[in-house]
Amino acid sequence: MNKVYVIGMGPGAYEQMTVKAVRTLEKCDVIVGYTVYIELLKEYFPDKRYLTTSMRQEAARCRMAFEEAAKGAVTAMVCSGDAGIYGMAGLMYEIGEEYPEVAIEVIPGVTAALGGSAVLGAAVGHDVSLISLSDLLTPWELIEERLRCAAKADFVICLYNPSSRKRSTYLAKACEIMLEYKAEDTVCGIVKNIAREGETMQTLTLKELKETTVDMFSTVFIGNKQTKVIREKMVTPRGYRI
Ligand code: SAH
Repeated sequence: MNKVYVIGMGPGAYEQMTVKAVRTLEKCDVIVGYTVYIELLKEYFPDKRYLTTSMRQEAARCRMAFEEAAKGAVTAMVCSGDAGIYGMAGLMYEIGEEYPEVAIEVIPGVTAALGGSAVLGAAVGHDVSLISLSDLLTPWELIEERLRCAAKADFVICLYNPSSRKRSTYLAKACEIMLEYKAEDTVCGIVKNIAREGETMQTLTLKELKETTVDMFSTVFIGNKQTKVIREKMVTPRGYRI
């Protein structure tokens, strides 16, 4: 049967791709993806046929992948991080309804929350809530409601898409909601360019986070009541007695 793989390629570095993702890409004829991620892959898989679209062309990109697979090419649709988390796996299944003759297999990857947590130390050490601040596909009221519920329940919270040119105030707004439930000195972290050139990390308090601007290549971490700083890293204990 004709086949398309939906592959999470991890946060950036080749070393952080799973062995399965690499082996699958090796056997593909065609790799489809967003331009920036394709550039990262070309170096390691030089003899593939690459098809790209820009951002906001997600449905077209999916159809492109299915068209190739329908013609008989073993095809990969690549996403950064994990293929499911704010990735293309769901949309591929939805558009796949138009291509019943093409099988779909999803290969997971290291998502930014986990890649970034490791850079910060052990930021995600307990129950965690992933929330995207992008209101392109989700109404802002719903995002606020989820922020409120997650803060109230004292989850560690990872914010994806924390900012963009049009949404420069969203992180501050999210922090204000956090401050309704979490203390000002709650330990927070920012990781930029996880596993990519220019990777940086910083720990700071929730109060400081509210005054900070970040870009769209960053993931933001907000600790729970137990989260603390050890060796200048952000650590959320499991709760073991020591
Ligand atoms: N599927 C991806 C998420 C895509 S949404 C994943 O599982 O990681 C895009 C957002 O993810 C960015 O705005 C940023 O918040 C986060 N992100 C993805 N890759 C990142 C990286 N290498 N470094 C920092 N943040 C990253």
